[in-house]
Amino acid sequence: MKHIAQEVSDLIHRGLDSHVRLAVTGLSRAGKTAFISSLVNQLLHISTHEQLPLFSAVRDKRIIGAKRVPQSNLMVPRFSYDEAMEQLQQSPARWPVPTRDVSEIRLAIKYRSEKRSKRLLSGTSTLYLDIVDYPGEWLLDLPLLDMDFITWSKLQMNALHGIRAELAKPWLRELEALDLNQEADEKTLAHIASLYTDYLHQCKLQGLHWVQPGRFVLPGELAGAPVLQFFPCQMTEEEEIPVKNSMLELLNIRYQEYKNKVVKAFYKHHFSTFDRQIVLVDCLSPLNAGYESFMDMRGAIEQIMHSFRYGRNGLLHRLFAPKIDKILFAATKADHVTPDQHPNMVSLLQQMIHPAWQYAAYENITMSCISLASIRATCSGYIETNQIKSAAIQGTNLAGESITLFPGEVPKKLPQPNYWHQHQFDFVDFRPMSTDADQPCQHIRMDKALEILLGDKLK
Ligand code: GDP
Repeated sequence: MKHIAQEVSDLIHRGLDSHVRLAVTGLSRAGKTAFISSLVNQLLHISTHEQLPLFSAVRDKRIIGAKRVPQSNLMVPRFSYDEAMEQLQQSPARWPVPTRDVSEIRLAIKYRSEKRSKRLLSGTSTLYLDIVDYPGEWLLDLPLLDMDFITWSKLQMNALHGIRAELAKPWLRELEALDLNQEADEKTLAHIASLYTDYLHQCKLQGLHWVQPGRFVLPGELAGAPVLQFFPCQMTEEEEIPVKNSMLELLNIRYQEYKNKVVKAFYKHHFSTFDRQIVLVDCLSPLNAGYESFMDMRGAIEQIMHSFRYGRNGLLHRLFAPKIDKILFAATKADHVTPDQHPNMVSLLQQMIHPAWQYAAYENITMSCISLASIRATCSGYIETNQIKSAAIQGTNLAGESITLFPGEVPKKLPQPNYWHQHQFDFVDFRPMSTDADQPCQHIRMDKALEILLGDKLK
């Protein structure tokens, strides 16, 4: 009898439990690793600490607790939460080492529902939360699916101006010496592809984020595979039709293989499983770097937004049935500026993503925009000079020196080129604040992010 009662209770529980796959993305150094580490950390401390007042389920004291459970997808590496916490708990604290591939971690959150029907059936419900981390650079590859090798090559060649033209020189020199009709030789292709990959890495180092193919800079488990050994070419009209077994034919084949086995596979096996998405954007580093970097980042974000433009006849609909219904855009590292600049961070980000916002509304995807700091590195206050009080932040830089400064104003709107002549930004890299093992990480608005992403799932 007891046995049957247990089975009935289990069945009811399973029916009441729910499951969300939350995807976290952003270009490299946007703050994904810090965000996921903090998110997991905040949730694991939820029953013992009260530092998430904007998260309604916590505020209403309906969350009983959260714990880690084995992830459901055994083919995806585990997100290195323990390793991240080890770094943050060191003295001095260090930033966690970022992941370079897709990774995942699963939590079970036990809560008391507000809904009468759920409460009557059972005292508690469980929300299983899968948090999936993947590089935003992978989303830059979506347009490739609609382009053949020739069209893609032309696009890349046309982009070679300014800093890019300078950085591309070593690769272009080798490319010019290559006869595309010559018999295919894998070694030569591997060599030129490595120069092209170096060029893409150099672009990233100079603060240029629009890099294609995105996997070349973050190859994950594909590092060294021939599918990542191709590059765009400059062709005459006669050369566009490849000779059999030629260099050009092999480049064409690899490009097609990349589209099918790498780009499409990511959208089919990962992207199509996501329910909610947070896109992290570091607007401050490109402000530091200058106009070209800022505009490039804007272009990359615009490109990323295409992955959320499903459309009835769109590319994504042809591949699978996307189901993301909420996207949160978060301007990260808000603790790098004084709190009075936070509204400007949000409006700047809103301007960057504005065109896609309208599409999203049409598709019934809810979009929101906030600023946050996953793991605080500074505290804010005021400094007084000549009896004038002004806002400032204080933190320890990576060399271990304590500094107090006003880092600069964040523009409210997309800045014009002359903006950089008139304004100076001074966003310094700080050490994270140390975290004690029994305390959650210090943050800014992680609770707001949680409310937007999961609030309705915990009703
Ligand atoms: P990922 O490449 O997107 O995983 O980026 P990370 O999470 O590794 O963050 C890159 C760097 O940004 C870190 O090493 C920190 O220097 C900085 N960072 C990330 N999050 C924060 C934050 O909340 N506050 C501050 N001050 N810096 C941050």
